[in-house]
Amino acid sequence: STVYLNGDYMDAEHAKISPMDRGFLFGDGIYEVIPAYNGDMLGFTAHIERMNNGLNELEIVLNYTPDTWRIICDQLCNKNQGKNFGIYLHVSRGADTKRAHAYPTGITPTVFAYAFEIPEQPVSIIESATTYTVSLEQDKRWQRCHIKSTALLGNVIHYQHGAAAGNKETILYNGLGELTEASSSNVFIVKDGVISTPPLDNQILPGITRWLIINILHSHSELKVHERRISKEELLDADEVWITSATKEVGPVIKINDTLIGTGKPGKTWQRVQSLFTLHKFDY
Ligand code: PLP
Repeated sequence: STVYLNGDYMDAEHAKISPMDRGFLFGDGIYEVIPAYNGDMLGFTAHIERMNNGLNELEIVLNYTPDTWRIICDQLCNKNQGKNFGIYLHVSRGADTKRAHAYPTGITPTVFAYAFEIPEQPVSIIESATTYTVSLEQDKRWQRCHIKSTALLGNVIHYQHGAAAGNKETILYNGLGELTEASSSNVFIVKDGVISTPPLDNQILPGITRWLIINILHSHSELKVHERRISKEELLDADEVWITSATKEVGPVIKINDTLIGTGKPGKTWQRVQSLFTLHKFDY
């Protein structure tokens, strides 16, 4: 496959970075995943904004404009075989001659991007939806989860615990027993027709899919999303639970550990929201 590295396009096997790169040694970097369907990117501006927020927070200075990124994404879609892609963007602080914790000055960030194929958008048909059984455990990650850091070990360990139990995601709650998010998704619940999701703070990633859903419901539906604290008891007692991400869209959860959610099938509200999402996801 063709990848992008520091200004050039090349075959993946010819892309080389220094072992002194701080992305490699410290996980010192920011990443993004932008979905593209037939070359149309979803939430492009919001994804680039989130990445720039992360870079600013880490004081990594990179002079790429949104247009620079757009060209890279378009090129990766064109140069690779396939229809629908997740476009992975990665900026690390760069390579330094010595391994020292302090941010070095005068080094150039490393910029890497590649495209991986993603399946067709999920359809909003209950019988053919991709459903999720998930694990539930206490969130043991750091306290800066709003930063989309390449240092994903905390998330990876949580995901792996779910995978070891035969599940496809792990939902997390904090020390107060409140729902945060999942290892690579945001979480929504529905109870008696009311949709809720945890508010944005340092405990969760501000998901672009989450943001799209809230915007779409705000302008195209009588349904509204309440951003509020949700206890893990409420989560387990919900009629519907969804996990959302760039590659999952609105993913219906049918089981959490041993607890069946609702009837154990995607719910009516999921069907309505995934339909609205499919119709309006390119509007923003
Ligand atoms: N939360 C975490 C921890 C994630 O890694 C992701 C994305 O992979 C999300 C939430 C969902 O974010 P987005 O909708 O921007 O993909």
